[in-house]
Amino acid sequence: MPITFTIDGKQVTGEKGETVLPVALRNGIDIPYFCYHPGLSLSGNCRMCLVRMTPPAPPPPKPGPDGKAPPAPPPPRPMLVISCMTTIADGMTVETKTPDVLKAREGVMEFELINHPLDCPTCDQAGECYLQNHSYQHGRSHGRFYEERHMKHTKPLGPTISIWGSRCIVCSRCVRFCDEVAGTGELAIVNRGNHSVVDIFPGKPLDNPLSMCAEDVCPVGALISEDFKFKARVWFTKEQKTLCAGCSVGCNVDAEQMNEEIVRVKPRENLAVNDWWMCDAGRLSYRQHMLPGRLVDARVDGKPATRPEAVKEAWQRLSSAGGAVAGLVSLWNTAEEIFLFRRFLKLLNPLAPVGTLERAAGERRQFKGGFVIEADRNPNRAGAKAILGDVAVEVGATAVLKAFEAGKVQALLVVSSAPELAVSPELEAMLARVKTLVVLDVLDSSVAAKYAKVRLPATMHWEQDGTFVNVDGRIQRARPVVNPPGDAAPALELLQEIVNCHPPGGSGVLSGDGVFRQLGAEVEAFRQLTYRDVGDLGVPVRVIAKEAVKA
Ligand code: SF4
Ligand code: SF4
Repeated sequence: MPITFTIDGKQVTGEKGETVLPVALRNGIDIPYFCYHPGLSLSGNCRMCLVRMTPPAPPPPKPGPDGKAPPAPPPPRPMLVISCMTTIADGMTVETKTPDVLKAREGVMEFELINHPLDCPTCDQAGECYLQNHSYQHGRSHGRFYEERHMKHTKPLGPTISIWGSRCIVCSRCVRFCDEVAGTGELAIVNRGNHSVVDIFPGKPLDNPLSMCAEDVCPVGALISEDFKFKARVWFTKEQKTLCAGCSVGCNVDAEQMNEEIVRVKPRENLAVNDWWMCDAGRLSYRQHMLPGRLVDARVDGKPATRPEAVKEAWQRLSSAGGAVAGLVSLWNTAEEIFLFRRFLKLLNPLAPVGTLERAAGERRQFKGGFVIEADRNPNRAGAKAILGDVAVEVGATAVLKAFEAGKVQALLVVSSAPELAVSPELEAMLARVKTLVVLDVLDSSVAAKYAKVRLPATMHWEQDGTFVNVDGRIQRARPVVNPPGDAAPALELLQEIVNCHPPGGSGVLSGDGVFRQLGAEVEAFRQLTYRDVGDLGVPVRVIAKEAVKA
């Protein structure tokens, strides 16, 4: 049964047990806060979300046995309460902008800033700091504190995070994160009064696979990530909504670039996938796109070639194999690319063997708050299964290897956007021996690229548009954050260009959305979907059962 009450005269509803602040935020009513976080327990310690609340009027008293009603109780009196901890009730009245509320907020801000060093010009949080924003909107125009400020420690808390203690407002978000979500409990608030500050226990650094989320939840510049420290002013960065490809969870992220280099990756809220969190390994995986040895130019028989020359050679060599062709595609490629790969091979030989390449599995980790890092380090196993079939993916490269040993493969197409792949000695021997090897790949160090007769530089997922299907069967959209290096281009484009060499010649190259629509017309799991349907948060595939995806 929904609960109805008013905030600033607007009627709003919430669920039983909810508190005022989340209901207000959901209804677009701005109440400032520091310590509240939807993914953490309530602590109510910053006092910034004070509002004026009038409880619902009690029902009129019932008449006694003598038929007379006792005197009515006085009407409820309004009081200042913290909205994050005040449970909603039918008929309650909340006001967020009365003079007493504004004065109380101003007082809270004054306390928060008493010991603050006001070092915004050198603080990495500047531009996205709750303290800056609330001070501007709710603080006093001048300070009244002339005593000496109490300075606190500045030091590393672990390999990924340092603390600027004087900026800490002791909201306890980071402590609650480590206790409740990571379950590792490295952080604590030490000392008392205005000496309070966050610290670690002696000899026990903040060092867990989710440690950098502690910096995300810090509303001010007290916790600073070593990865982003002094790297960029946030207002100069450009943000893109995309995904992490580090494992089959597919955490939703905001990736920021400056001057065509990714400078920071942060988790993006998606309650169906990663809540507000991501792991450190996934967060730092953006560095892959800057790896030395990226393929940046096309080669034919080891000699430099233009992209059109290499595309034409790829078509001629693959199509002249008399149907004795096979293909391998990585589980890091997008659904659109896997679809084009399959369509191209079918064009050459409807029965051409296809297989997949993948990264070796890691360890599955589940944390106290429920967050999971999957053992499968491939972002699109489920997408490949939906397009190529379960068996083709489960056996990996085996079917292609068998066909090669049986003398049925003269030409092999390898498509990969993975930074590293598990390559068995048998697979390497085949790559070395096959007559024609056409490779679309990303790194010079790739085994396939080493033996390629025709080699085209492709993109990593940070550089391309497309969709992945995660371990729970959710189709999600990756978007390009930076431009690819050199002549590298998405396999999505290269595969269409190769097909366009088919006489009498093709008709242009479709965008990711265009190919996705074709995929939706042919593959049941993506039926009738468009990028607009997938949106920023993804949609479940149409038919894949969760059990089948995890198999
Ligand atoms: S370090 Fe940040 S998150 Fe932790 S208590 Fe201080 S202000 Fe809050
Ligand atoms: S859990 Fe997986 S998808 Fe999420 S950030 Fe880590 S590696 Fe990336």
